[in-house]
Parts: sequence; structure tokens; C-alpha cells
Amino acid sequence: MTECFKGSFTQQDPIPEEGIAAALEVMRSGRLHRYNLAPGDPGEVGRLEQEFAQYVGAKYALAVASGGYALSTALRALEVQPGERVLTNAFTLAPVPGAIASVNAVPVFVGVTEALTIDLDDLECKAGAARVLLLSHMRGHLTDMDRLMEIACANDLIVVEDCAHTMGAAWKGRPSGRDGLIGCYSTQTYKHMNSGEGGFLVTDDDAVMARAIMLSGSYMLYGRHGTRPPEEVFAQIKYDTPNISGRMDHLRAAVLRPQLAGLEARIEAWNERYRVVEEGLRGTPGLTLVDRPEEERFVGSSIQVLLLDWMGEAIEEVLRRCAARGVELKWFGGAEPEGFTSRYDSWHYAPSAPMPASDRVLRGILDMRLPLTFSLEDCALIARIIRAEVGAVWQGGAG
Ligand SMILES: *Cc1c(COP(=O)(O)O)cnc(C)c1O
Repeated sequence: MTECFKGSFTQQDPIPEEGIAAALEVMRSGRLHRYNLAPGDPGEVGRLEQEFAQYVGAKYALAVASGGYALSTALRALEVQPGERVLTNAFTLAPVPGAIASVNAVPVFVGVTEALTIDLDDLECKAGAARVLLLSHMRGHLTDMDRLMEIACANDLIVVEDCAHTMGAAWKGRPSGRDGLIGCYSTQTYKHMNSGEGGFLVTDDDAVMARAIMLSGSYMLYGRHGTRPPEEVFAQIKYDTPNISGRMDHLRAAVLRPQLAGLEARIEAWNERYRVVEEGLRGTPGLTLVDRPEEERFVGSSIQVLLLDWMGEAIEEVLRRCAARGVELKWFGGAEPEGFTSRYDSWHYAPSAPMPASDRVLRGILDMRLPLTFSLEDCALIARIIRAEVGAVWQGGAG
């Protein structure tokens, strides 16, 4: 009998009961706006900012409306100018070049390696040509952050980290988002905490955080923030920083606070699932697993494998056969952007020179989410199905 998987790749686990109760409390209070506070109450958003800052070890955290908003706010807080070139990853998702385009700056793509991380040799070549690197830790793969920061320092390159897939991850124990000047996170449904939409921006820099708070739509109520620079820093920027509203509200913060408290346990649950799929796929002919370096603490909320140098039609055949057995794989090599996947050459507003070595990697990337609603048995079954179907197509001659 052919085994099939019956679960859903888009079914998230529920919001913790504690978060549901806190959200009901916020609704009963009628005070949903972050600055609508009862006397003496820091509010859910203010508390969440304090807790998140503490979690990543940052001086300041700002909760905002989305991860993409955090990225564009970071660029605005750094006063990126129209027409300015901003370096970013060729392997990332659309909100990243989109954040650069939102400030009328120009994305310049840096290649991807077989480790699915930014190509540091390519970065070294391009580092002199920009002031800012918007570094995307795409699908949770961390590059050698020591070498990356050395390149950045040597070239006066400011690093903004897109940690949409690395909330809770670390390089040599340093939380992801803390090597760069600014770290940005998403709490959109498919990330590591789920408030539907939402995000964070963290930094230790007074002027950057003061500008980010003003930009996020604080009016002159910045004094009500959970973590904030001293008044004199605001005094220097408050007349020159526009209000581009993108605040978080108490309802979302209420839903997020218990998730943050439970994040470490969720990370362990993800990594257990990741290891089961990884072990199940190890040694599959024609399929390359992505090595996870010792120095990296990752969050296995999704897994990627490579079918390097396969013909496109053979990869499509694998996708069809897996889909017929209930396993939804995403392919970054498709000619047309589909669902959440797209590639640097599908963003026509940001023209780029071809990158053959990166194209070879991108053409081979298969990607799969691992929602926490999957059991370990589900994960083992999924791996058996992929292994069997990759094997069948490989034997038929895929290269
Ligand atoms: C989801 C995502 C973002 C942006 O997050 P939103 O909250 O959806 O705006 C940024 N970068 C990457 C790589 C993402 O996957």
C-alpha cells in the first residue's frame, strides 16, 4: 500500500489559553490602542517590548505592525536616501527587497551558497559599493556571523538583520539580530510567534530607536514606550522625523506575551521534528542535505534540501509525485513566482546582473514548512514519502 500524508502544511497550533484570556481582557477594557493606558499601567505592548528586549539582550525593542514594516522602518531610521544602493540577499522573500523599494532605494543582490547563506566572497566584492546591508537569514540559515561582521567593519557597512526566520536562533550564543546595528523580526502567522501580523525592531542605539519610535507613529507619546532612549535623544530628532504609522496594538501583544514565554519549548519541538525529517532523508541518492554548522543554534520551523544539477522537469516530477501523496514541497527554481516563493530575478523593479553560481543553488532548493501540529510520526512519514519519490525520479535519470 502506498502511504499518504493527510495533515495540513498551513495548520498552526492554537494560541495558548493564557493569551486568549489576556486578549479577552484587553477587549473587555476597550483599550486596544497602545497609547490608551489606564493610569500607572504600562499596557500589554509596553510589557511585551520589555520582555522581548530582555529575551534577545537588547537595550531597546519596538513592537510594530509587521516584519516588513520593521525592515522599512530600520532603513528610514538609518536615513537611507532615494536612489541609494542597499545590499541584500539574492535568496530571500519579497518583503526584503520590497522594504528597500519602499524607501525608493535600490536593492543590490549578493549571491547564495550551497549552505543557503549569503556568499561572503561576493559580499566582500560588493561591500564597498553601499552603506547598508539588509541581511536576510533566509529560512533560518545563519552565515558565519564573525566573518560577516569583519567584512562589514572593514567596509563601514551598517548591518540590518532580517530575523523573520531566526527569532530564537543564535550564532556562538549571540542571539540572531544582535550582531547588526538593528534586528528585525516578524510575528506573522507563519513565523515563530503568531499574532496574525506583527513584528519587532531591536537595537542598542539611542538615535536609531528614537527615530524608529517616532516613525512608528508615536506622536509625542513616546514616553509611554516599554523601552526607550532618554528624552534628550528625542529632543534632537522629534521635529525632523515623520510619523509613518505602523504600531502594534494591545490585542496582538496580549496574544504574543505567553508565546514569548513558551518560545524555548517551541524551538525544541521544531528541532525534534527537523531532526526526524533530516535523518529520514539522509543518504537519499541525488538529494543534498544542508549542513548545520556547530556554531549555529537554529530553529527548525522549516527544512530545505537541494536537488543540485537536476533538470527542471525532473524536479517538477518530484513535486507532483510528493503532492499526490499529500506532501507539499515549494521549489525556489520555478520560472514563475508562486505562493510565497520568488527569486531575485522575479523582482523586475530591482534589475540585477545574472549570478550563475547562485542560480544553480536556487534551481535546486526544495522547501518545506514544519508546523508544530505535525507529530514526530508525521515527520517520519513525510521523509519516507520524499525519499521514495526522489529515489523513483532519480533512478529514471534526473540529471
Ligand atoms: C515573513 C518575512 C518577512 C516579513 O514579515 P511580515 O511580517 O510578513 O511583513 C521578512 N523577511 C522574510 C524572509 C520573511 O519570510
